[in-house]
Amino acid sequence: MSMKVSIVPGCVGCGLCISLCPQVFQFGPLETAQVVQQPSCRDRQEVEDAAAQCPVGVIRVEENPAAPDPRTPL
Ligand code: SF4
Repeated sequence: MSMKVSIVPGCVGCGLCISLCPQVFQFGPLETAQVVQQPSCRDRQEVEDAAAQCPVGVIRVEENPAAPDPRTPL
């Protein structure tokens, strides 16, 4: 199952998520974090850690059941 991550307004730019998972999170032009790429399976733990540890709790992680499971044979 794939996951979808987003950041709701309120980021304080601490950089924690970016240090944990820079392939998914980067600073945007306003010095707040933004999602630059949806996480792959390999990024799952780092993204969950970032969401759990974000000091203002603005990282949202959703499982995406609508996405096809790549392990399912056609
Ligand atoms: S951990 Fe939270 S507050 Fe810190 S940069 Fe990431 S989204 Fe912003």
